[in-house]
Amino acid sequence: MKTLVEPTLNLPESNAHNHQQCVHDALKTAEHLCSERGVQLTSIRHQVLELIWESHKAVKAYELLDRIKPLQNAAKPATIYRALDFLIAQGLVHRVESLNAFVGCRCSGRQHEQLLLICKQCEEVEERTAGKVMQALSEEFRQAGFTAHSKAVEVHGLCRRCAGLGDA
Ligand SMILES: [Zn+2]
Ligand SMILES: [Zn+2]
Ligand SMILES: [Zn+2]
Repeated sequence: MKTLVEPTLNLPESNAHNHQQCVHDALKTAEHLCSERGVQLTSIRHQVLELIWESHKAVKAYELLDRIKPLQNAAKPATIYRALDFLIAQGLVHRVESLNAFVGCRCSGRQHEQLLLICKQCEEVEERTAGKVMQALSEEFRQAGFTAHSKAVEVHGLCRRCAGLGDA
């Protein structure tokens, strides 16, 4: 399949990591998991995933639609939403509820709980599994007699780079 994304573009100097590797790994993982599960990573699903992985920023559905139009002329919002639903169900993409946007999962596509650190300056989203936090939350839910269906914690602020703390 033709590669749509030139991931090294658009990345500021301070953000220089091998993003091409991120994209490569994410797409390989997706292909592998889908074939293992016997589900179809159709070309539209593949393209949406690739577009989401253009960066580590959360992307809105209409931005995906704009970018996919030149490739799939007939693409409609419903096309994008169906592809997103599939990618979310497969654990390949996370919905960032507070932004109504989407970001590629960095944890190999298994279902898991997330702490999402959302930078308001560069708009990148860092995903952490935050085991201790999630355990503490589960304890809270237990005490409240609350049955949680999903557990994702979203925090807005400044990432390490934007806060001037340098690269990790
Ligand atoms: Zn990357
Ligand atoms: Zn994830
Ligand atoms: Zn930032």
